[in-house]
Amino acid sequence: MKIICIGRNYAEHAKEMNAAVPSEPVFFLKPDTALIKDNQPFYYPDFSKEIHHEVELVLKINKPGKNIAAEFAYKYYDEIGIGIDFTARDIQAKCKEKGLPWEKAKGFDGAAPIGQFVNKSKFKDLNNIHFHLTINGNTIQKGNTKDLLFSFDTVIAYISKFFTLKTGDLIYTGTPEGVGPVSIGDRLEAYIVDEKLLSFEIK
Ligand code: ZN
Repeated sequence: MKIICIGRNYAEHAKEMNAAVPSEPVFFLKPDTALIKDNQPFYYPDFSKEIHHEVELVLKINKPGKNIAAEFAYKYYDEIGIGIDFTARDIQAKCKEKGLPWEKAKGFDGAAPIGQFVNKSKFKDLNNIHFHLTINGNTIQKGNTKDLLFSFDTVIAYISKFFTLKTGDLIYTGTPEGVGPVSIGDRLEAYIVDEKLLSFEIK
């Protein structure tokens, strides 16, 4: 399976990164070795001093598809989860400065914790789903899918022009504003609406 992540999909996050709001979806990949499941801890890597959290809703692809039309994209996922797109911001900044790819800042081992999934039928309106991240009990990031620049369906259609989607592929749909550093000892908990679906410690 592969992990596809959308960059700058919330305008306020693009703004806090001093980045332009994109005119078409921006995406990148993480390898499957980045996944952390079952609330296992994240081990702070020694190659970075600035690991940032990015809380994101995640779509789980349920069947193979290529060149999927946006109007049919809803048929390609049944479940929505929540995860963290960990980013070694210091490494990413250096790569960006040199115009180099930044996979190592985004795709390192453990860079994609993923929580439990819920069936999308649970939500009345997929374009109005609230989610948030707490660190040590304090709410640090809040988002709502009404603020997405590119909807779930648009993103699936766009990605599938380039990459065949396969069963089990995960799409991290972008982070709202409020990204920031984590520290050893922190407990991160992520919620969709009021349901806690992810809880793990930084070690
Ligand atoms: Zn992200």
